[in-house]
Amino acid sequence: MPSYPRPLTSRLPQVGTTIFSVMSALAAEHGALNLSQGFPDFDAPAELLALLDQYARGGHNQYAPMTGVPVLREAIAAKVSALYGASYDVDAEITVTAGATQAIFTAVAALVHPGDEVIVFTPVYDSYAPSVELQGGKVVYAHLTLPDYRPDWDEVARLITPRTRLIILNSPHNPTGTVWTAEDMARLEALVKNTDIVLLSDEVYEHMVFDGARHESVLRYPGLAERAFVVSSFGKTYHITGWKVAYCLAPRELMAEFRKAHQFIVFTVHAPSQYALADFMKRPGWYEQLKALYQGKRDIFRQALAGSRFELMPCQGTYFQCVKYGAISDEGDRAFVERLTREHGVAAIPVSAFYPDGEDHGVIRFCFAKSAATLAQALERLIKL
Ligand code: PMP
Ligand code: GLN
Repeated sequence: MPSYPRPLTSRLPQVGTTIFSVMSALAAEHGALNLSQGFPDFDAPAELLALLDQYARGGHNQYAPMTGVPVLREAIAAKVSALYGASYDVDAEITVTAGATQAIFTAVAALVHPGDEVIVFTPVYDSYAPSVELQGGKVVYAHLTLPDYRPDWDEVARLITPRTRLIILNSPHNPTGTVWTAEDMARLEALVKNTDIVLLSDEVYEHMVFDGARHESVLRYPGLAERAFVVSSFGKTYHITGWKVAYCLAPRELMAEFRKAHQFIVFTVHAPSQYALADFMKRPGWYEQLKALYQGKRDIFRQALAGSRFELMPCQGTYFQCVKYGAISDEGDRAFVERLTREHGVAAIPVSAFYPDGEDHGVIRFCFAKSAATLAQALERLIKL
């Protein structure tokens, strides 16, 4: 293959390969237990796989409608009504997307003009800033600070300017596992009231909130929902991260703009998956089961590590557990996870990857969405360190 002969000006000069791909590749290379990238190592429910097979063989293999198949949009509307008391129009206010990543990218592309400011919270999920930068937007960083990673609403107030177009929120939060409270939502609502600021709420871990706490979805708050894109992902909820099916909800005016971009970014999403999910969503009790499953795994993980030299950070939600490793090593977090993968056979994510300037607090993230056998093996290795 000849090499490209011209100078190339990157649109994303600071961006390399996402840390999730990097660490999963390193784990594979060294045969390590992969507690880095967030995905379950157990399979999706057999009944859901049977439904996918049924719809694929049943002739549902051509383009789905641009907005998503009606039965799935109906199931999503019924879900958010039952869980959050939110009322979304099936035709005008719900769009099925190819993963939450695409929904987030599309919402940003639909809304952000060059020079607009977008507030995000560090540590920040890695797709947000590049999505904004590709639109010529300016990313403004608010800080979730250690040890509890709570939002500082006074700082957010100071960061808001007449150019603030969007605030991107994520609770339960990746990577820290923290969960926003009703008070956080009230503070946010007070800040955006009487402004043109739109919210993009990434709620992909909505069903993984532990210890009896409630997921404070933007959908519960009409004063927030009226100005918000709310995104969730079936990948997290049904152990099917590889299907890349998610959805976005927004008031019709916002959704009309979203769809203008959506139709040219992806047009439409894998059809048989949508029919299968629409049926499977009717199954009662799934969300409670999911929560119990992950709370159980979190507890096993924490109990074992409590007796180790790792220092556990709080984990109120998600399937991630952050730890400090300062009692074990004074290496930087990237060096530490690389050595952990190579020498001890357990891969993790360095939390510095979630900061724009690679800020390193000696914190790493483990994903505990793994089978009992994988967790037992990983914990046996980790407690020896
Ligand atoms: N947002 C957050 C906070 C995530 O952790 C993830 C993925 N794991 C996504 C978005 C992307 O979800 P999807 O795989 O549906 O694109
Ligand atoms: N969101 C997942 C994580 O945080 C990974 C998704 C991805 O690899 N893009 O690990």
